[in-house]
Amino acid sequence: MLSKWEGIVIRTIPYGESNKIVTLLTQEAGKITVMARGAKKPRSKLAAVTQPFTLGSFLIRKGRGMGTLSQGEQIESMRFIREDLEATSYASYIVEIIDRFTEENNRVAGVYELLSDALHAINEEYDAEAITLFVEWKMIRVGGIHPVLHACANCGATDGEFGFSFKEIGFLCHRCFHLDTYVVRLTPTQIKLIRTFYTVPIHRVGNLSLKKDTKQLMKKIVRTIYDEQLGVWFKSRRFLDKLEAMPELLPKQENPESEG
Ligand SMILES: [Zn+2]
Repeated sequence: MLSKWEGIVIRTIPYGESNKIVTLLTQEAGKITVMARGAKKPRSKLAAVTQPFTLGSFLIRKGRGMGTLSQGEQIESMRFIREDLEATSYASYIVEIIDRFTEENNRVAGVYELLSDALHAINEEYDAEAITLFVEWKMIRVGGIHPVLHACANCGATDGEFGFSFKEIGFLCHRCFHLDTYVVRLTPTQIKLIRTFYTVPIHRVGNLSLKKDTKQLMKKIVRTIYDEQLGVWFKSRRFLDKLEAMPELLPKQENPESEG
């Protein structure tokens, strides 16, 4: 059976002298892994379309066992992502999160659009660190955790001061702060930002310009959820952390504050 699917290359493994095993996140069928014969050879017609992060239209032959990539047509090469070290690092982390929380041949609504939005935004040189936060916050739900972010997780109040509680996995209002000694107090702007990361599609937000401190706090909260609630560890995050600890590798200037 031959199918034509739109997809994004999320992982490739060299196989033998000239082949690649390519994992795609497709719009129509979720994650699928296929054999791309000859794709390792630079002159192969499959070489370009099987580069990591490439968005393409893929003609796949499914039979017994692993499918085969018959043809591919590049829609977007994501060239900036592949040429910029910072962009590559964030995009690698994003595809790793999505790879970890999706299963083969099981389409999860919204995940393809999330990946496509995130890669397009990074490729258009939006703040990769901020874009990654959208993916991290949105994928919590796909990982099976549903934080309470619309109201107080204990009493349901929607007014007052709020903080994030890892114990309740969600917001607590000031009346309920006593339930968790370690509640992380948040400003109204930070509350709004978390809700934006969790619910608003990336393409509807545009370029967010956030202070380093704000991004660090948002990152700390979401990564604690990954570490403690979901118990997952990402190998690409270690490199990203190293990169962030060496600002001399990242020549970009911090953008001026304009949150909200
Ligand atoms: Zn409350």
